[in-house]
Amino acid sequence: MIIQKFRDAVYTKDTKIRKVMLRWHLINGHSFSNQEEAVTNIRALMTDINKIYGKAFLFESEIKFYDSEYKDYKFAKHKEHCNTKYQGTKCVAPSTVIEKMEGKNWKDQPCFHVLVVNFQRPELAGYGQFPWMDQFGLLVMSSKRIHKGATTLPHELGHCFGLFHIFRGVSEVRGCNVCYERDANDL
Ligand SMILES: [Zn+2]
Repeated sequence: MIIQKFRDAVYTKDTKIRKVMLRWHLINGHSFSNQEEAVTNIRALMTDINKIYGKAFLFESEIKFYDSEYKDYKFAKHKEHCNTKYQGTKCVAPSTVIEKMEGKNWKDQPCFHVLVVNFQRPELAGYGQFPWMDQFGLLVMSSKRIHKGATTLPHELGHCFGLFHIFRGVSEVRGCNVCYERDANDL
């Protein structure tokens, strides 16, 4: 299932480049006000990630706009994370929305789904699912991080490719003496 998302290797003289399709999902009236501006911002992000990952991947994109019953909702990673402290806020999980949009087999499609949302916790920038996780294929981005030069998309794509943070050894793993990094940094 994993290889299905990395398609059509393009062979150059000394390397091979995998094509990866990002299917962007935007809900009308939810996280952006102007379709044209949203498209311009996404195109700029696509140019950025192709520069960053260009030696290994060629990213392509398709952008879908939807009318959805969830346009007035905020998003939390899982339904159980919807926080009651935000009283009166309707809250939904991204996977619920993607399933409605793309059907039950969305995980098996040969693309990554990028859902642009307003998170219930406004400090969240986004998240990507590791290849071994249940919702691999889903990448969720805060609408605040959809602009040229924003680093959230390349960061979260790294997780989709199986990469941990390079500061993992310092702040995310306990009792690891092999992978320990003495100085954390966020490159
Ligand atoms: Zn991360």
